[in-house]
Amino acid sequence: MAINMVNRIATVLFILLITLTGFFVYQNEFAPCKRTVFYDIGNFDIRFGITKEKFLKTIQESEAIWEKKNSSNLFEYKPASKFKINLVFDERQAKTIEAGQSKQEIEGSRAEYDSIAANYKKLAANHEQLLNDYNTQAIEFEAELNFYNSRVAEINNRGGATPKEARELEEEKKRLELEKADLNRQRAVLNNRASELNSLGDTINTLGQKLNINVDVHNQLFGEAREFDQGEYQGNTINIYQFDGIGELRLVFAHEFGHALGIEHVENPKSTMYYLMEKQDIKNPALSQEDFSALKNRCNFD
Ligand SMILES: [Zn+2]
Repeated sequence: MAINMVNRIATVLFILLITLTGFFVYQNEFAPCKRTVFYDIGNFDIRFGITKEKFLKTIQESEAIWEKKNSSNLFEYKPASKFKINLVFDERQAKTIEAGQSKQEIEGSRAEYDSIAANYKKLAANHEQLLNDYNTQAIEFEAELNFYNSRVAEINNRGGATPKEARELEEEKKRLELEKADLNRQRAVLNNRASELNSLGDTINTLGQKLNINVDVHNQLFGEAREFDQGEYQGNTINIYQFDGIGELRLVFAHEFGHALGIEHVENPKSTMYYLMEKQDIKNPALSQEDFSALKNRCNFD
């Protein structure tokens, strides 16, 4: 019995030792802050439409986001490293591509709408000008006609026109009739233009409504803020599943690199390690105060 007990204690100790030793070795080999994590590019799917060179360059820009403030070398590309960064195509990127096409279509319709609307505005301004001209002429005509009529009334009152007056009145009457005919022609043209403009206006409104509906549908389908499931870090792999443009890809790398350093999500929607991708400045990526504190805590940087 006694011997058995001793043996058992020895076995327990031995197991503890092994476990502890194993633990220390594990810490040393995978402590990402202490040692540079060397990575290689693994699977690379060309359906993303990015070159391997651009992909690598973007990874290196993401490294720099973490390395800049403490001039450390946390990550480095080294072919044949165990740590692989994979580009994996699935329905997520397929949806991103679809969203891009939908956006392009909307931009196309918007450009068409804008151009038709600009043309309408020009035509309407021109119409307004012609209408003003017409109104001025009509007022003038009215005054001339009144003057003519009062002259005729005056001559009739005094018993009739002399032959010279009769000739003058006849000429003036002809001129006024021609002017009236011209004004009537102008008015008909203007009325036609007005109804054309009205129907063009209707078309533009319909186009605008359609465009708004398309934008709504697009936003419903593609517009939501995304959680960081575009990339994934597991052990010694980072898989990239989805990105829309280089800025997004860089942010996804930076986020997953953060996880690879052992950093969890932090607060502040502008943080690289925030759980949503929405408010970060993807053009000028930088660590937020929260990201930097998390890095310092994790890596014991001063
Ligand atoms: Zn995350």
